[in-house]
Amino acid sequence: MPPTAARTGRCPAAAAKDPTPCEGPHDAATIVDRHGREVAGCVQHCARLLAGLEGARVHPFVPARQALDIYSRARELPPCAWEIGR
Ligand SMILES: [Zn+2]
Repeated sequence: MPPTAARTGRCPAAAAKDPTPCEGPHDAATIVDRHGREVAGCVQHCARLLAGLEGARVHPFVPARQALDIYSRARELPPCAWEIGR
């Protein structure tokens, strides 16, 4: 686990300003941004990250059922959901 995750107790995909706790394993999925950078995280924070990251996608290695879960959650979320209390 990277030092930042150990310090906050949350997965690396959790935004610093996002107060929500992780849901499930911290490496449940991986998000790839449009520059090809990868961030592993729990389903909850991967969805929230995806919602606010233009051009990002779920890594193709993530199982389809899990990827669909993340995409459908992200669709329901505004970018930076925590800023409006979600
Ligand atoms: Zn998380």
